[in-house]
Amino acid sequence: AIKKPVDDAGSPPAPRFEGAERHLIQPWPYAGAIGNEARTPIETGDGIYITDADGRRLIDGPAGMWCVNLGHRREELARVMADQAMELSYNTPWYTMSDPSAELARRLAAHAPGDLEHVFFTTGGSSAVETALRFMQFINNVRGRPDKKLILSRGGAYHGSTYLSASLNGRPRDRDWMDGADDLVVKLSCPDPFRRPAGMTIEAFTDFLVDEFRATVERVGAERIGAFVAEPVQASGGVIVPPPGYLPRIRNLCRDNDILYVSDEVVTAFGRLGEVFASGDVFGIEPDMITFAKGVTSGYFPLGGVMISARLTEELRRSNHPQAMFGHGYTFSSHPIGCAVALKNLDLLEGGVLEHARTVAPYFQEQLKTLEDLALVGEVRGAGLMACVECVADRESKNPLALDNAVGKRIDAHCHELGLLVRPLINMCVMSPPLIITRDQIDDMVAILREGISRTMDDLRREGLW
Ligand code: PMP
Repeated sequence: AIKKPVDDAGSPPAPRFEGAERHLIQPWPYAGAIGNEARTPIETGDGIYITDADGRRLIDGPAGMWCVNLGHRREELARVMADQAMELSYNTPWYTMSDPSAELARRLAAHAPGDLEHVFFTTGGSSAVETALRFMQFINNVRGRPDKKLILSRGGAYHGSTYLSASLNGRPRDRDWMDGADDLVVKLSCPDPFRRPAGMTIEAFTDFLVDEFRATVERVGAERIGAFVAEPVQASGGVIVPPPGYLPRIRNLCRDNDILYVSDEVVTAFGRLGEVFASGDVFGIEPDMITFAKGVTSGYFPLGGVMISARLTEELRRSNHPQAMFGHGYTFSSHPIGCAVALKNLDLLEGGVLEHARTVAPYFQEQLKTLEDLALVGEVRGAGLMACVECVADRESKNPLALDNAVGKRIDAHCHELGLLVRPLINMCVMSPPLIITRDQIDDMVAILREGISRTMDDLRREGLW
């Protein structure tokens, strides 16, 4: 029997969403709120805007979770999904192939740097990272090097919410109450220029990071390290753009030590930095694998994948164990609806949206940078169409604000009132709007943020917290 809601005993009909919080567990909930948390319901989306249940129209500042790259309510995307569902809604990836998945693999290979000619489709970003890591384990087993499996990851990183991918996460609060495969992971420093040691130049900081990498490989032993995993720009860590030259130097060290370089482009691919993949076209590196998700379908369908170097697949084909099976796959690998919408998404990116994103990105960064005149703002940084406002207690010393002031959430609350959704991250606010945003809309966004931050400063002063 279907259980009736507890308060349904003859009382007038509840407002639309009331009671839902008792059943729906939201991602990243606090223990005290599980099964009892209402978040603002969003009803509709259109372009860069979403409308909440109170009818308030908001700029979707984070584009969902860095994913609605082409904006909401794109008819071309909706239509292609419906058409594909009517044509073939599912195909069994073990036995068959569908047109959309084969065609998408071909198109992605043409955009990927170097010899990353192969793609394994997954259901999202965590499963993409998980796939890359299991592929590293598999190839080292086939190579007869079962001890070369450790994974290098960095402070500030976010790579997913499956067990192994989550074990790489470098933000403390992701791990405070959670277990992880700690014996498989070795952590390196976060390449955050803003938080580099006082008095150190950017060049010296880059040398420090490279030396730390080299020393770690020497200490642990290259024969035990299978992979290095890195976001080209750390997204959830606070849009951390690494110092110039750092990524290519680490890439070379990986090559020298036969460590597979996995570039996690779950956020940075599909136009966020103006290119389909940023590793080669923006940062000039050729990784061994690239993971992607999110923007590949502009969030219209859960799809992700891993681009894999032909050198590695060739090695497997020629190995002494052609019968060894990569025992890994998902029911929804190569889903035809996901691949069909990804193809249309790619058409639209290639057909002008990438160009638009490259054109407005400098304006987006310049305008946000003007917020640095506010006393609460320590730094505004970013790349392409992703940016972060980091708030500090004191600009001179860069001292962070007390965590429980939840400054990001306060700014978000004010901005929500004013018509903008931002992504709060402790003392930071992150923006990664749909790539179709115009200059006028960027002006609106920055004006609201300025007002939201000013109101937050007033609150903090009034409460004696700052
Ligand atoms: N890698 C990166 C860099 C991410 O930002 C995310 C998600 N925020 C993931 C992996 C995990 O992706 P998903 O949430 O689709 O599993």
